[in-house]
Amino acid sequence: MTLLKVDVRRKVYANGCCAIENLAFSAQPGEFVAMVGPSGAGKTTLLNLIAGLDRQLEGDILLHCDKSPPSEPKISFMFQEPRLMPWLTVQQNLELVLPPTLRANPVKPLKDTLAVVGLEGCDRLFPGQLSGGMQRRVALLRAFLVGPDLLLMDEPFQSLDAPTAQQLRMVLQDLWQRTRPTVLFVTHSLREAISLADRILFLSGQPSRVILDVPVKLQHPRTVEDESVQNMHASLLDQYPQLLGGQINYES
Ligand code: ADP
Repeated sequence: MTLLKVDVRRKVYANGCCAIENLAFSAQPGEFVAMVGPSGAGKTTLLNLIAGLDRQLEGDILLHCDKSPPSEPKISFMFQEPRLMPWLTVQQNLELVLPPTLRANPVKPLKDTLAVVGLEGCDRLFPGQLSGGMQRRVALLRAFLVGPDLLLMDEPFQSLDAPTAQQLRMVLQDLWQRTRPTVLFVTHSLREAISLADRILFLSGQPSRVILDVPVKLQHPRTVEDESVQNMHASLLDQYPQLLGGQINYES
């Protein structure tokens, strides 16, 4: 059963800018899909459309999940910045996304949940007392805490140093394997995409469409340094030298 079916025929902004044209794909429950494309391709535009933050489009975006009892699919969104409330503690920031019943009687104490992402003892700290990497850990945990069916991630580890970004990618893989939401992860780093995803969608330059859909058949967890990841990176760019520029050159 497909969880997400995207068919954007055209997305044109009020100023006439056509960001997306004939972009279609589906994602299955539990699938980790990375989207890679040049800057300005329309990746953020696409995530906003899927999240329903922007409803101005020609086309259809269908979300369906087989839950019993039936309920609306839950969507989480993790942005480029952690977007924590600076006046609330870590615990309060996390509680904010929980329904009141769960806030009063959590399935698992939040303190224990914090340990899963390496933040034990940080519940009473404010975001300003945390490093950038720790803030992303809180944002990552918050994104999973709502129990999403679909998790949208827009370059969430951008602007972090390489070791911190790698630690967060490991935390993400751990959380994803525990609960298996469908993930749509936007990145401009092909290595990052290969190290995380089951499948990579490559987008063209503006107006954006899918130019290549590639499965990644490597075992989790992975790091960007893994030989298998490096090999796939080299082989894709060898076959399609213009891929990251949003073009496919078919060699005869
Ligand atoms: P990406 O996330 O791939 O870098 P965006 O989705 O941010 O790309 O932008 C795609 C195109 O749409 C760009 O040309 C950008 O200038 C344009 N765009 C984005 N948001 C708006 C807006 N609110 N109004 C007009 N044009 C926009």
